[in-house]
Amino acid sequence: MKYRSIKGTKDILPGEVEAWQHVEGSVRRVMQRFNYHEIRTPVFETTALFSRSIGELTDIVTKEMYTFRDRSDESVTLKPEGTASVLRAYIQNNIGEQASLTKLYYIGPMFRQERPQAGRLRQFHQYGAEALGSQSPALDAEMMIITLEIYRALGITDTMLKVNSVGCQRCRPRYKDLLIDHLKKIASQLTPDSQSRIQNNPLRVLDSKDEGDQRRLRDVPLMKDFLCRECSEHFVEVLSLLDEGGIPHQIDGKLVRGLDYYTKTAFEITSSALGSQDALAGGGRYDLLVEELGGKPTPGVGFAAGIERLIMVLKKKELLPSAFRGPRLYIVSADKNARRWTFQRSMELRRHGIAVEIDYLERSVKAQMREANRMACELVLIVGERELSSGSGTIKNMTSGMESSVALSQLESLFT
Ligand code: AMP
Repeated sequence: MKYRSIKGTKDILPGEVEAWQHVEGSVRRVMQRFNYHEIRTPVFETTALFSRSIGELTDIVTKEMYTFRDRSDESVTLKPEGTASVLRAYIQNNIGEQASLTKLYYIGPMFRQERPQAGRLRQFHQYGAEALGSQSPALDAEMMIITLEIYRALGITDTMLKVNSVGCQRCRPRYKDLLIDHLKKIASQLTPDSQSRIQNNPLRVLDSKDEGDQRRLRDVPLMKDFLCRECSEHFVEVLSLLDEGGIPHQIDGKLVRGLDYYTKTAFEITSSALGSQDALAGGGRYDLLVEELGGKPTPGVGFAAGIERLIMVLKKKELLPSAFRGPRLYIVSADKNARRWTFQRSMELRRHGIAVEIDYLERSVKAQMREANRMACELVLIVGERELSSGSGTIKNMTSGMESSVALSQLESLFT
């Protein structure tokens, strides 16, 4: 085989794509209910947009971005996540001037050069939402509820919602110092990966996947216990909105997320149906990011959810609708004359919105019948000299086997 798809990328084949359409349909319906509008941003952007927003020292920026110089020597990057692009578009198009609160959602491919494994691809797909212009804790809760609502619409109800607050410019620096002090004391017992993060990205040490690290981090100070008054009140309000709404959640003081731009609320949704990569979605508040990217100070909150992992869960739980839907009618042609008639008639029926298939391979009547069966067509009509001269034919229901006579000029009436 001469050409193969690039490692970590996947074709979504017919038979699989129906699951994607199913998921995307649910996403769109739920987003619409919450009054979010779709935005589509380019697949690549100026590199600095991502390094600035996601954080120079994060894993994504240091190790995972698909960055290259184009022919005019500009550094561009395939987008590793959606928020930075959406915010860039929001600022560039003055969207904030049209309304004081803007609610946007997206669905699209993202690119990260990670080590491919189950649930971890290099081109993967996310949907997500961003609400820009309000500091209200109600929007933080809304983001979590939308995420869960999409899962509920698809039949998944046993996800776990973990919530934390990562503080703000005011309270986080003091906490960071405390954390660094603590981590330095136990540094020799931590994995080299965690050790290397202590100075540059100490918060990320908290979500180390290493069990030994986690045991040693048991007594580590947590941001949620050092929040300033504003962050603390915000966090309490988010939690009580969830409580009042009957949304089960767990406070996870070590939840920090891999991107630097979060302030206050951070959350993650996991599924026990997944293996080690169990995060389905994550999000949080980013009140400083729009300004950081050159816009007017505008608070924001959002989430992003992975589609591949969601489909893995749906498959495992057998929640996917039956894959392939065949055409409703297959018209079998018995000879050359019938073939010409069938071609024109199928075009008319399709114009009327009816899914029809015919033979293009000059197959025998028997082979055409087999093909109709393989495609799971609902009805089959055989047309030959006799049918054309009498103007009527026999239609067969492929499920029940029942046959009935129909006028060739009135095939449309079978589908009304
Ligand atoms: P993040 O943007 O890292 O918070 O990721 C949000 C969600 O996107 C995750 O919970 C996953 O469901 C999905 N995701 C992130 N990275 C990948 C990847 N490399 N392959 C597949 N899905 C991913």
